[in-house]
Amino acid sequence: MEQSPLYIRVHPNDNVAIVVNDGGLPEGAVFADGLVLRERVPQGHKVALADLAEGDEVLRYNVVIGYALKALPKGSWINEHVIRMPSPPGLDGLPIATVRAPEMPPLEGFTFEGYRNPDGTAGTRNILAITTTVQCVADVVQHAVTRIKSELLPRYPNVDDVVSLGHTYGCGVAIDAPDAMVPIRTVRNISLNPNFGGEVMMVSLGCEKLQPERLMPPGTIPIAAANDVADVGETGDINGDVVVLQDEAHIGFQSMIESIMKMAGHHLERLNNRRRETCPASDLVIGVQCGGSDAFSGLTANPAVGFATDLLVRAGATVMFSEVTEVRDGVDQLTSRAANPEVAQAIIREMQWYDDYLKRGGADRSANTTPGNKKGGLSNIVEKAMGSIIKSGNSAISGVLSPGEKVKQKGLIYAATPASDFICGTLQVAAGINLHVFTTGRGTPYSLAEVPVIKVATRSDLARRWHDLMDVDAGTIATGKASIEDVGWELFRLMLEIASGRKKTCAETLKLHNALVLFNPAPVT
Ligand code: CA
Repeated sequence: MEQSPLYIRVHPNDNVAIVVNDGGLPEGAVFADGLVLRERVPQGHKVALADLAEGDEVLRYNVVIGYALKALPKGSWINEHVIRMPSPPGLDGLPIATVRAPEMPPLEGFTFEGYRNPDGTAGTRNILAITTTVQCVADVVQHAVTRIKSELLPRYPNVDDVVSLGHTYGCGVAIDAPDAMVPIRTVRNISLNPNFGGEVMMVSLGCEKLQPERLMPPGTIPIAAANDVADVGETGDINGDVVVLQDEAHIGFQSMIESIMKMAGHHLERLNNRRRETCPASDLVIGVQCGGSDAFSGLTANPAVGFATDLLVRAGATVMFSEVTEVRDGVDQLTSRAANPEVAQAIIREMQWYDDYLKRGGADRSANTTPGNKKGGLSNIVEKAMGSIIKSGNSAISGVLSPGEKVKQKGLIYAATPASDFICGTLQVAAGINLHVFTTGRGTPYSLAEVPVIKVATRSDLARRWHDLMDVDAGTIATGKASIEDVGWELFRLMLEIASGRKKTCAETLKLHNALVLFNPAPVT
């Protein structure tokens, strides 16, 4: 069906708007208000709504996303080649906890069926995870996991999956460098993710720098619920649940595999005794992220996610948003929405740390945008950031996590991570998410093995073409078929269904997932 020329302006003050039509629009196309295109404008790209003189501010989201490099008459195509990017806001003199979040009544009565954990958290899946201390053991563990899945798992029908927590860290690294705590606590906290039921087992090589007791010091592992002597929140140590490949008891490869399988059997037995029980929606811990973004991300999928974020916060849940370089240009929006000055200062601390980290590598936040982002209409990181922040909704920001830290509170949390899809996802798994929501405009098959990933398409064209990869089509918002609220509620209800295991995500059905990728800002040796 041919659609008449349509654009979307985000804010009444904006002097550019986004072309909605599939395939873009040709020179001479006339919009309902009489605006005529002076040149062809691709879908998702910006058109000037007013005559811009050289040096004029280009406004989208009522934010300066650039300055005109030349005169740009009304109807011109506005892209990265004709605007100059503004400098990032400084980190001094920012508004601190100045904005009061809109009054939002609590949302009651929403529940999901989850697996209650000894530490009080709830899982959405019942998975055996095998922690690794070092890259050297990765393939041995993978080999064991393949055999566990085919030979043992069928005997434990209440267990959903077995995953190897493989990574490239553990040796050949400056393990005493201050920043080494980031990858170490990430592996530790991933092992304690709510979807693994507190059943920690580990495979070590033996000679590596990251020794098991350094990865999991005594007191880090919750005592399993099966042990009814233990109180909720009580912790123990790894209790010998470690297979060391260099152990003299191992004669050959098969002996290692048998040891891993034997230990896995004990944990599968306990996991298999667990049953789903009704949990309040406040037990959800949701990580939101975007990847392969386009200009529709900030118009459709991300605002719908933002609406769902507010619903979740109203229901008492925890929602975390991340991706430092995609919020850096809107840092004032974050510090002003902080629940208190301490939270605002923690946001500034994380931004400063990341500014310094990028500077050490001779880069800045503009290194973020990809060719695909630009093809999708995002001229620069400022425009991308404004569309990205919307995922956080309107609630007050109640807490901040440094990379790899585990969340300990409810509400809207800023979890500082790189924007890299895999690293952000990995750090959110460490932070304790039990469900992940991922928006995409260009399209990515991204998923995780550790938590279900709900993927939201920003455009209906992508949702149609990738019908078996995309869980939600938010493109209906651009064409006026649905509102942001409609898609926000659809997503919220889908989260409860997926969390309960009543539905699987597209990626779960296809058994697609990406590897964990650790963030190691410390030197390697
Ligand atoms: Ca990302």
